Amino acid sequence: MKILVPVKRVIDFNVKVRVKSDGSGVELANVKMSMNPFDEISIEEAIRLKESGKATEIVVVSIGPQQAQETLRTGLAMGADRGILIKTDQTIEPLAVAKILKAVVEEEKPELVILGKQAIDDDCNQTGQMLSAMLGWSQGTFASNIDVGEGTLDVTREVDGGLETVQIKLPAIVTTDLRLNEPRYASLPNIMKAKRKPIDVKLAEDFGVDLTPRLTVLGTVEPPVRKAGVIVNSVKELVSKLRDEAGVL
Ligand code: AMP
Repeated sequence: MKILVPVKRVIDFNVKVRVKSDGSGVELANVKMSMNPFDEISIEEAIRLKESGKATEIVVVSIGPQQAQETLRTGLAMGADRGILIKTDQTIEPLAVAKILKAVVEEEKPELVILGKQAIDDDCNQTGQMLSAMLGWSQGTFASNIDVGEGTLDVTREVDGGLETVQIKLPAIVTTDLRLNEPRYASLPNIMKAKRKPIDVKLAEDFGVDLTPRLTVLGTVEPPVRKAGVIVNSVKELVSKLRDEAGVL
């Protein structure tokens, strides 16, 4: 089974995001970028499937600027076999990403595509579902466990009421949730080896997909600054503050 893992380059989750002075978006210049954390979980799952003999090849694909090649190298250092960079400097929305990924799937013919449930920059949570609809493939979203059967996958999903296990037919789309696994760190020898793994570079414009954004950002604002807290000396004082100042009692 060949597995395709789409990975997105996003602002590192440890970075305190700053809004651009004109409110048109967030500052990306000189900001540390990393692989979307859910995509690390997808790669880890694909590697575990390969290690257990259930997968044969792992291809990582990223749509983004030239620097997304570094994100692909991280995936290759973790254990993926090869990468595909689909270059564009434009901001592209999930619909265009899904259309390009559909073309990649038709060319690469994987049996399984593992995406993150969402990219932590825009929190869209759309790409996997759109890709599944466009390909007419089964989908198992928010996976916290995957068991491979004979031409099927049992996907345990994290839903509001607890855990739901669905059986879906291959070929399939899976999107990963936080508790699926803990991604490994790439070892130094594997980082070195990854430098020699192939990355195929293509241009997004060559896919014949309309990349024009459908959404207009009206404004971006920082969350309101929280007021400093106060330390109270007794329960009596706490109760009186809650009653008289906060008005919650
Ligand atoms: P989203 O629907 O934008 O929240 O993203 C969900 C998932 O789609 C991500 O975790 C990635 O696996 C994939 N994805 C989104 N954007 C890209 C991109 N530009 N390149 C590769 N994969 C992407």
